[in-house]
Amino acid sequence: MFKDFIKTLKNHKRVAVFSHIRPDGDCVGAQVALSKWLTDQGYDVTAYNDDDVSDNMEWLTEIVTINKPTEEQYRQADIVILVDGNATHRFGEMKEWQDTYQKPIMIVDHHPEPEDGFDCLVSVPSASSTCELIYKLYEETGIDKIDENTAKALYTGIITDTGSLQFDSVTPETVEIVADLLRRGDFKPDEVINKIYSNKTINQFQLLGMALNTISLHEDNQFAVMHVTKEMMSATGTTNSDTEGFVNYPLSIKGVKIAIIFKDLEEEGVKMSLRSRSDIDVNVWARELGGGGHKKAAGAWHKGPLKQAIADTLDIGKKQL
Ligand code: 5GP
Ligand code: MN
Repeated sequence: MFKDFIKTLKNHKRVAVFSHIRPDGDCVGAQVALSKWLTDQGYDVTAYNDDDVSDNMEWLTEIVTINKPTEEQYRQADIVILVDGNATHRFGEMKEWQDTYQKPIMIVDHHPEPEDGFDCLVSVPSASSTCELIYKLYEETGIDKIDENTAKALYTGIITDTGSLQFDSVTPETVEIVADLLRRGDFKPDEVINKIYSNKTINQFQLLGMALNTISLHEDNQFAVMHVTKEMMSATGTTNSDTEGFVNYPLSIKGVKIAIIFKDLEEEGVKMSLRSRSDIDVNVWARELGGGGHKKAAGAWHKGPLKQAIADTLDIGKKQL
């Protein structure tokens, strides 16, 4: 799987590893584990992200520092690796710098239909997570190199991208990989799970309470819609990132095939997260709105206002029924 990847890397020294903007557990876990692998292979590695990593994943940045990139740093890199995203626009400012400097770029990713123009793609849409792919890189090149920190980073990505091993992207092999990570890292699940999930604030629950009250059902109860506004966030002292996981509540309503949370960020627009518990492909749906993602989890932006965003989005979805 990584033959071309390793070949393309050769003869380069300075490697810039990017994770996608608004980073999640999978992209950060993969970035950390891949950066460790590259360092171990003798490359001069720097990890980058335009955005801050959320508090619950800060411990991962103690394993490998993640820096905000500058144009000058980009100019100095010999080769660029993008993890957990299929298009350069998902990685922030580097998209513009790439137009100028034309660096060789490789991706390691599991989103369908990657954009053209990469020098090497390790693109496996059937993989549960990008971390599962990075595990395979270790497997192909020396599995014993997985130490405690690498195991915890990869574990984080697999667990967060699979809803704790519940999604249909999970295969027996995914579970075997998780077992192997627990063994090699010699840690208990709750050491990582507590850091990632058990650090919620009362404010988040107050926001969740408000959001649950907005749930409405459409198209014969097949679509569930939830929303959060800036007003609700300021009333509860929360921000956009505090809505992580909210969409799973409407998705678990009996008979619901699709759940969408709309986040009205006012001047920025309306950000939506779509989740499917059926054959309906929310990647196709999100792409019609200029976004993307996977069959079962995708996201997009709408210019707003909120009511219009909800109406337009439901109109697109109806066509898929
Ligand atoms: P989330 O809803 O958790 O933000 O994202 C779910 C999935 O959709 C992720 O795989 C993410 O990469 C993708 N995604 C979320 N927002 C966007 C977006 O605005 N554009 C694109 N292309 N993909 C998105
Ligand atoms: Mn992912």
